[in-house]
Amino acid sequence: MTTQNSDTLADTPDAQTYDVEAVNSATRRQPLYAPRKKIFPRRASGQFRRFKWLVMLVTLTIYYVTPWIRWDRGPFAPDQAVLVDLANKRFYFFFIEIWPQEFYYVAGMLVMAGIGLFLVTSTVGRAWCGYACPQTVWVDLYLVVERAIEGDRNARMKLDAGPWSANKLMKRVAKHGIWLLIGVLTGGAWIFYFADAPTLLHDVVTLHAPFVAYATIALLTATTYTFGGLLREQVCTYMCPWPRIQGAMLDEHSLTVTYNDWRGEPRTRHAKKAIAEGKPVGDCVDCNACVVVCPMGIDIRDGQQLECITCALCIDACDDVMTRLGKERGLISYATLNDYNRNMALAMGTGKVIQPSRVRDQLTGRLVDAVKRTDWRSIVRPRSLVYLLVLVLIGLGMLTALALRSPLSLNVLHDRNPLYVELRDGAVRNGYDVKVLNMTPQPRQVVLRLEGLPGATLSFADGGSETAGPIPVTLEPDKVLPLRLYIRVGHEALPSSPVPFRIVVEDPATGLDRSVESTFEVPEQRR
Ligand code: SF4
Ligand code: SF4
Repeated sequence: MTTQNSDTLADTPDAQTYDVEAVNSATRRQPLYAPRKKIFPRRASGQFRRFKWLVMLVTLTIYYVTPWIRWDRGPFAPDQAVLVDLANKRFYFFFIEIWPQEFYYVAGMLVMAGIGLFLVTSTVGRAWCGYACPQTVWVDLYLVVERAIEGDRNARMKLDAGPWSANKLMKRVAKHGIWLLIGVLTGGAWIFYFADAPTLLHDVVTLHAPFVAYATIALLTATTYTFGGLLREQVCTYMCPWPRIQGAMLDEHSLTVTYNDWRGEPRTRHAKKAIAEGKPVGDCVDCNACVVVCPMGIDIRDGQQLECITCALCIDACDDVMTRLGKERGLISYATLNDYNRNMALAMGTGKVIQPSRVRDQLTGRLVDAVKRTDWRSIVRPRSLVYLLVLVLIGLGMLTALALRSPLSLNVLHDRNPLYVELRDGAVRNGYDVKVLNMTPQPRQVVLRLEGLPGATLSFADGGSETAGPIPVTLEPDKVLPLRLYIRVGHEALPSSPVPFRIVVEDPATGLDRSVESTFEVPEQRR
């Protein structure tokens, strides 16, 4: 329970008493958060809205189309460009194939995504939230459906407030039906990233797909419908941690959607009358156009708020108003705190209130040259350059590692127990678990041989004769070949102490080889 202190303080002879009322009491409990008020954002139009349409089109196209892009990897590998092949533990991304032991590439990509998000947030604020976040994109998509069926803000509000009728029922059924269909398509597209898309689609339609596929579709349908259609702004405000984290990343050089009250205040709906009375008048005509388009239901004129996803729709709305009034656009604009503070200082001078005459030419009515306009120079600074440099370095490092990685790999594990076996003829044998990885989509003929262990012979546990020379081995495409290898050294050639040597796998056709150092162990009494 919390109490609210008051400035009013009363003293009694016995104890200090406070004039205060419990915020939470048995008879009046505060809800976890304020009851939700429905938001009916009006359709906005302008440059940022157009840009958002474009981003929405591109991101949705990428999401839905990517699993259907084919990529020829030959007859032995899947021909899907992007595939998370869980069964075979592979991740395919166009020409890149990531094996489980190369998970550091995925980790590297996640690190790059994180730094990229830092870079974007520190320079252009919550651009991710406002334009590319899946929640934003799908809410926009759901709003398109809602507007198409129920109309724009006023029509939707009227329908919502009105009694149930056949028309309302029909519209609601149609809207929720299409929302659910979008949810199904969203979940459906997701599963295609984990299996051959055409095959899985056929299996899903004919009810032959595995249960997990249907469960995933059902889960994603439910989350898409709930988050995008029902919860909308509540997800950003109450569920997403990003608004809290981004507060730590923004600084005075970051771009944020800003109401420029240094030119907007004092606001009035009756400018002519106020001017006639000799009162100072700012550019804001208090039309609330910026509020009705806001998908988060906030008023940007109240200043920076956690709820603001910087979608910039209020900029479009206000620019439209300013254009119609014959005033300069940008009363609401992307601006840095630095530039805002500078303009605020200019507008206030040594006084304590905004004086519109200080930022506006009295003859032309235009903003004076001393007003600082935010441009790209305002956001370029060492911090963003360091983020960019780190991002580029990690990217180059990963590309270099990818370009230099060998398509042939070898792992060797010496037996721990027993370390060696003494044979009846006095020879000593060591056992090794060998894994040869052919990381290409073609079969490969390689040979296995030893270096640095004179007198040794090789054999495999699953048969074949012992030989001192290289043993030919056939590798299947894109597979790991596990081998149980025995190395035997006769009595006469037995070393007096454990000997380091190398196991080599070589592709004679290409000259490519890989080798691993191991040890040949001998009994104590032979040393
Ligand atoms: S205040 Fe403006 S930028 Fe922020 S969420 Fe609302 S419309 Fe988008
Ligand atoms: S749209 Fe512009 S003029 Fe209208 S209330 Fe918002 S800030 Fe003021």
